[in-house]
Amino acid sequence: MTQTTQDTNVMRALVTRVSGPVLSPARDGYDAERTGLQLLGGHRPAAVVGATDAKDVGAAVAAAADHGLRVAVQASGHGVGVPLDGGVLISTRRLAEVRVDPDRRTAWVAAGAPWARVIAAAAEYGLAPLSGSAPGVGAVPYTLTGGVGLLGRTHGYAADHVRRLDVVTADGRSRRVSAEEEPDLFWAVRGGGGSFGVVTGMEIALFPVDRFYGGSLYFDVDGAPEILDAWREWTATAPEELTSGLTKLVLPDVPGVPEPLRGRHVAQVALAWAGRPERGPAVVEPLRAAGPILMDTLGEIPYAESGGVYAEPDHPHGYRSRNLLVDGLDPAATARLTELTGPGLPFTTVVGLRHLGGALARPPEHPDAVGHRDAAYSVTVLTVGGDDGAEARALRDGAASLFDGHVLGRSLGFSFGPLTDAEVREAFAPEDFHRLSRIRAAHDPHEVVLANHRIPPLV
Ligand SMILES: Cc1cc2nc3c(=O)[nH]c(=O)nc-3n(C[C@H](O)[C@H](O)[C@H](O)COP(=O)(O)OP(=O)(O)OC[C@H]3O[C@@H](n4cnc5c(N)ncnc54)[C@H](O)[C@@H]3O)c2cc1C
Repeated sequence: MTQTTQDTNVMRALVTRVSGPVLSPARDGYDAERTGLQLLGGHRPAAVVGATDAKDVGAAVAAAADHGLRVAVQASGHGVGVPLDGGVLISTRRLAEVRVDPDRRTAWVAAGAPWARVIAAAAEYGLAPLSGSAPGVGAVPYTLTGGVGLLGRTHGYAADHVRRLDVVTADGRSRRVSAEEEPDLFWAVRGGGGSFGVVTGMEIALFPVDRFYGGSLYFDVDGAPEILDAWREWTATAPEELTSGLTKLVLPDVPGVPEPLRGRHVAQVALAWAGRPERGPAVVEPLRAAGPILMDTLGEIPYAESGGVYAEPDHPHGYRSRNLLVDGLDPAATARLTELTGPGLPFTTVVGLRHLGGALARPPEHPDAVGHRDAAYSVTVLTVGGDDGAEARALRDGAASLFDGHVLGRSLGFSFGPLTDAEVREAFAPEDFHRLSRIRAAHDPHEVVLANHRIPPLV
């Protein structure tokens, strides 16, 4: 059978079985539906299914499997690194329902809901989810790779607080997945990524956080070239109520960038203090001496406004990254990293550090597949640009090599771009990777599901 006949056949099957839109490349709306926030290497499927419920997801997976095609899933498309070429793309944007149960302090979150919706729904009851720096990111995809949030050091990974999921496996069946039902899948999908089926929704715990002290201090790196080390030193004795990250970049001198930061080499220390808000300023005080402060957004804020802590841009662009989970930050390495990623590069380069430890280091009540809990910091070097040329790749590799001797592994969530099997393996303890591969073999031996971070089935 030719590819065209196969594509026509699967389109016919999808149109009869799915109630949401089914779009071929010739149809209006195809490009809008397949394109996410990441513009490098987008999906080019034979068909896009705009799923409207779990039945649509099941039908799309079954139709693809019946025709020997692969399936990929996309929520907001920040994370796509492995594009689907042919096959069926399931767009989950219409699955955006969020239901909060204030008595049980839980939320049911459908596959395509961005964190912003969960945050807003939970805030009505003075509750908060374990969301991350960007509220536009999909809550489900974020959680599948662990999820290091604003309150991470206080409460742990987002994946640690998932109570139950609904997952459509490669056979098209919808399964209830919890500690009691399908315990292997429950362990694997919480941290192991999207290789095990299509999650149509998840129940997560919420936390009684109505307001908190947080925001960002923006330092001038030219006046404080050792700012990365000053932040490391400050975090070394930080209590678990404090979760922070440092983002360093050279900002363009353009309208849209806050005036004090335009054209400057900036280190943004973003933080959330989960203790009593009035104690927050004293905790931050020692850091203020680290260098000249260009802008200060710290203050007591409602969790509903937590997207302002990192205030990350959320427009479509192309980016690639290299991530490392390390046992410590050597001052010589951070000094060299600051030089290497400073002004004069032909592309924007963003260094993203996250302080780990605290509750992130403790195993959850129900073990999950999140790897390297002993990591002290996450280091991401991200380059922005249309074609991801050799110079950008060499810079990321050169930056990563500065941490030789301290690397425990990598975080999949902060890895943007395709990874080799060996690189995906580095996200997990060897025995956990082996277990993930066995679970993949049990549920998807023919690899119907094309995940962003492939867990190969054990052969
Ligand atoms: C600006 C920005 C800020 C970020 N901040 C944080 C942060 O603070 N903490 C953190 O931990 N991470 C963070 N991340 C990483 C982010 O959580 C992941 O990139 C996440 O996958 C992006 O969500 P998305 O909705 O864009 O996913 P998509 O790009 O839509 O999906 C990514 C992949 O997830 C899988 N997937 C998606 N939906 C499903 C589903 N329903 N079932 C099964 N598999 C599925 C697929 O393999 C898919 O290719 C950030 C990313 C960006 C771009």
